[in-house]
Amino acid sequence: MKTYIVGNWKMNFTVGESSLYLHKLLGKIHSYRDIEVVVAPSLMALQSLSLQTDRRKIKLACQNFYYKDFGAYTGEVSVAQLRSLVDYAIVGHSERRYIFNETDKDIKMKVASALRGGLTPILCVGETESERTFGETVDVIRDQLLGGLSDVAKEDVSKVIVAYEPVWAISGHGKPARVASPLDVADALKIIRNILKETFGPKIASETPLLFGGSVRSLNAESYLSIGDCNGLLIGGASLIAPEFTDIIEIAKRVKNDRNY
Ligand code: PEP
Repeated sequence: MKTYIVGNWKMNFTVGESSLYLHKLLGKIHSYRDIEVVVAPSLMALQSLSLQTDRRKIKLACQNFYYKDFGAYTGEVSVAQLRSLVDYAIVGHSERRYIFNETDKDIKMKVASALRGGLTPILCVGETESERTFGETVDVIRDQLLGGLSDVAKEDVSKVIVAYEPVWAISGHGKPARVASPLDVADALKIIRNILKETFGPKIASETPLLFGGSVRSLNAESYLSIGDCNGLLIGGASLIAPEFTDIIEIAKRVKNDRNY
């Protein structure tokens, strides 16, 4: 399985800045067969970046979309409209769940809509700090994971990438994030793998890529990428800094080579 390095630029960079930044990244990274590099710029920049990017090096993701194909939905954008611009779609990010009140129903509809339209959904799941304190981590992960996949046909489950993103480890919300230990992450990814196994069988479970996201930096990337169940990283803040992001890609390449020996 490939290793996925996904940068979520969130609501950062103007269209011009996005283009300059992509140009810089394209100049610094190589195309690796076993590393899939994806960035999720703002919706505004997708059109121009889709013409600019070299998809062998960097593919694009959208950060959000609406699950209906077309119609009277003011302000929304559908998968049909995004299909020629992006290959991936982030779904269920905690900022969408908790700031924009996305519901489990929205999220399952979006996962199904992305698949229907030929995009790979990156389904984010993860507990909040208080859910973790109250010992609800496993239940929250199970509910968000199986809820998000509930409209997906069994044979399509491994087309979904699952990102474990504990909300308490995500930076950029005012309060400093607590960095997740590799042990915490290994436990959570194992839980996800086991839920997939119990529900869909061992083959699908082993073929579904699992990512980790939450304050990943070049300094800690290797510790997460070395976890057996970790197939990549979803990166917010550090993906906005070219040397950080490109270092993480190089680290992913090195860890992948070491694993293949
Ligand atoms: C995220 O929001 O998906 C994320 C992982 O952010 P950060 O890396 O900044 O914690």
